[in-house]
Amino acid sequence: MKVFSVAGYHHTGKTTVSVELIKELRKRGFKVTSIKDIHNENFTMEKKGSNSWKHAQASGSTVIARGISETYQIWNRQLSLNEMLSHLKSDYVVVEGMKNVALPRIICAKDEKQLEELVDGTVFAISGKYADDHDKYKDLKVLNSKDQIKELADLVIEKVFPVLPLPKLECCGECGMNCREMVSGILAGCNMREDCKTDRNLDIQIEINGKDINIVPYVQNTLKDIIKAYVKNLKGYHEGDSIDIKIRE
Ligand code: SF4
Repeated sequence: MKVFSVAGYHHTGKTTVSVELIKELRKRGFKVTSIKDIHNENFTMEKKGSNSWKHAQASGSTVIARGISETYQIWNRQLSLNEMLSHLKSDYVVVEGMKNVALPRIICAKDEKQLEELVDGTVFAISGKYADDHDKYKDLKVLNSKDQIKELADLVIEKVFPVLPLPKLECCGECGMNCREMVSGILAGCNMREDCKTDRNLDIQIEINGKDINIVPYVQNTLKDIIKAYVKNLKGYHEGDSIDIKIRE
C-alpha cells in the first residue's frame, strides 16, 4: 500500500489538494482511501447523548454504528498511523496532516517562511496557496490543484512507494538510519525501498490493550519461529496461514 501525506499549517489549502488528488487518482483506476488528522480537542463524530454515544460511553471500547447509508466504527482513543493503516486496503492512502510521520510529503504553504520551516528531504512537491503565484521552490516543483492536478498526480505515482513499517525510532535503526532519513534517501534516489531491513508489522503484529507494539527484528523472528513451531502441528493449519492469538488475563 502506498501512503503519502499532504501536510502544512492551517488554511494553506491542504484539504483542497487532498480531495483533488483523491479524485484524480480514482479517475486513473486506483483504489484510494484517506486519513484526515484533526487537532481539535473537542472533535467527536458522536452527538453527546445520542444512542450510539451511550453505547460508546458504556463499553469504553469499540462501537459500530450502522445506519441506512453509512456504517462507522468508533474507537475511544487516538489510533496510531499503523493501526489505522491496518484497517485500510487500497492502492493509495492520502493522509492529510501528521507532518511528523515518516511518509513522502506534499507541503502546502502560504509563503516561503512556512516552507523554510517545513521542507526537508521527505518532501517531493509543494502545493496549496503558495502554488497560486509560484512554480518552483528551490529544487522542488510547485503545482496547484486547480489546473495542474494531473502533473501533481503524475508526481505522486512517480515518487510514492510502499509504506515503511514506521517504527518508533528507538526500536529499529537496522538500516543504519531512521525511517524519515530512509524516506529522504529513497526520494533522492540514494536508497531503494528494499533497503529497509524490516517490514515487521507486516510479518508479526502484537497488540497490548488494542495498541500496536513495535518489536525489534530479532524478537520478531524468535516469536514467529516459536509460534509457528507450536501451531504447525495443529489440525487445520496450513503453511502460510495467518495466526491470531489473544491472551486474556
Ligand atoms: S530498517 Fe526500515 S523500519 Fe528500520 S529504521 Fe530503517 S527504514 Fe525504518
